[in-house]
Amino acid sequence: MSAESLPATDLRWVVCPVCHQPLESVGNIISCQGCGRRYPVLDGIPVLLADRVL
Ligand SMILES: [Zn+2]
Repeated sequence: MSAESLPATDLRWVVCPVCHQPLESVGNIISCQGCGRRYPVLDGIPVLLADRVL
């Protein structure tokens, strides 16, 4: 598993499930710009479940 940049995950339609603010891709995680939660990306797919917060 390499840490190189993901294929551009389109996050324009994705919001944080907790605070509904925009998200941004940071390395191989997704970071919420609102509440600061971070979500894992598994196999290129953001796992935006509140109980999977890193
Ligand atoms: Zn949030």
